[in-house]
Amino acid sequence: MEIFKGNKIHGGIAIGTVLFYSREKRKIVRRRVEDTQAELSRLNEAKRAAAVQLEELCQKAREETDSQNAQIFEAHLMMLEDYDLNTAIANVIESQSVSAEYAAAVTGDSFASRFENMDDEYFRARGEDIRDVTERIIDALMGGVHRLNADEPSIIAAQNLTPSETLRTDKTKLLAFVTQKGTTSSHTAILARAMDIPAVSGIEVRAEWDKRTAVVDGHKGIFILEPDEETLESYREQQKKDAQQELLLKKYKGIKTTAKNGRRINLYANVGSLDDIDAALQNDAEGIGLFRTEFIFMERAQAPTEQQQFEIYRKAAQKMAGRRVIIRTLDIGADKQLPYISLGKEDNPALGCRAVRLCLARPELFKTQLRAIFRASVCGNISVMYPMITSVEEVQRIKQLVQEVKAELRNENIPYKETEQGIMIETPAAALISGSLAGEVDFFSIGTNDLTQYTLAADRQNSRLAQTFNPHHEAVMRLIKMTIENAHSAGIWAGICGELASDLSITQSLIDMGADELSVSPGMVLRVRKAVSEA
Ligand code: PEP
Ligand code: MG
Repeated sequence: MEIFKGNKIHGGIAIGTVLFYSREKRKIVRRRVEDTQAELSRLNEAKRAAAVQLEELCQKAREETDSQNAQIFEAHLMMLEDYDLNTAIANVIESQSVSAEYAAAVTGDSFASRFENMDDEYFRARGEDIRDVTERIIDALMGGVHRLNADEPSIIAAQNLTPSETLRTDKTKLLAFVTQKGTTSSHTAILARAMDIPAVSGIEVRAEWDKRTAVVDGHKGIFILEPDEETLESYREQQKKDAQQELLLKKYKGIKTTAKNGRRINLYANVGSLDDIDAALQNDAEGIGLFRTEFIFMERAQAPTEQQQFEIYRKAAQKMAGRRVIIRTLDIGADKQLPYISLGKEDNPALGCRAVRLCLARPELFKTQLRAIFRASVCGNISVMYPMITSVEEVQRIKQLVQEVKAELRNENIPYKETEQGIMIETPAAALISGSLAGEVDFFSIGTNDLTQYTLAADRQNSRLAQTFNPHHEAVMRLIKMTIENAHSAGIWAGICGELASDLSITQSLIDMGADELSVSPGMVLRVRKAVSEA
């Protein structure tokens, strides 16, 4: 038995088999073969296996999400049958007498780089698809454990998981995450919390752990490899206790969120998909305080159209049936990248052209989203919120674009509502000028993840800075207090949607500072309601 201490990302206990995931490319050596016919048969066999996987993924995407996701896999299935690609792989096998793995790897590389060097973003993204398809063929040839596709429920152990990799994991086969990189505020951690599965970071994961039994203790931030019988027994007991605690929380369902002094708090949920909205409703969230719309962009091979976005926002509003749904506009950049939107190379992407900066630089992208949100506004109680604000001028430019969008809709006789508009306060600049910003908007939502990152100059992704990245730091607390006070002086409300909102050790202080709203991952709603009622 080996015990590793890491950082707590999300509570809960998981007991199961490890699936080691590595994004690093396998070393594929140039292996010479005598029997090229046998290699061609292996290649065909592998392609058949890849086709079965892709068909299953298509089916799953159609059943669980909307049909757009299935189109990604349909396109991959077509690529798998692409005449030029297949002839080129076969030619390499036959002309060079090399293994199918090697032929697929070099051919995939050369086809993909041809696309990746094109000017057009759409074609550049196709390069990524070709790599994905040839990797899948190589996986089938090598029988490796490269992908995040577990056959049975597993503990995923990985150096690092990008938000899009996390999104692509099959939730039904997921027991826990153990990663080397990532902090409590990284987006992968946020997704783990949204899925409500135990997660620990800061552990040096190793390939040889694959298929071995382990325990993940998300409460303490511990990973135990090959636990002995006594340890296993005590964790089984802990799992039972956790389940009992969950049952006790049920009494907080269906009641308002009220602090001891009688003050009402709006307790909302953070979501990134329509599935998360179902989880928010199951956990009795009083609204959606943060809909991270970039996730609906990240799970697609190309940007969702206005109509596709409209459908999602409409369904979100309808599902919430009159409760407030705060839709945050696209927050792309830093760790959240889209293959089809090139931001150019940035030395410091967290300080780069992210979020509203990108949207103002690409008004066509921004206006498409705004049109979809305003069109959906008549279907429920929608508010719109803008991320990464640093100046009053930025807000005024956004409002100008909103006016243009509304004028277009009026000209086209498309109805919309005058929705509330708010901004995220997640840069020290915004907190410091919150007095001026308050005159421009209807509400503030404090993003403590980025506010901590930018105030303390500590990368939220870097697990080595887990101690430095401290949202309880006095500097962060003062900025939160200042923001809430400035909001109230201007007569607007201020909430908190960063991860600090679900930190039960600080609930009392947030209430004392006057927070009007707390928005947390769906699985935390009842726990926070309990904490508020005791604060
Ligand atoms: C934040 O920064 O606190 C926030 C809520 O936004 P995100 O985590 O999506 O950057
Ligand atoms: Mg943020």
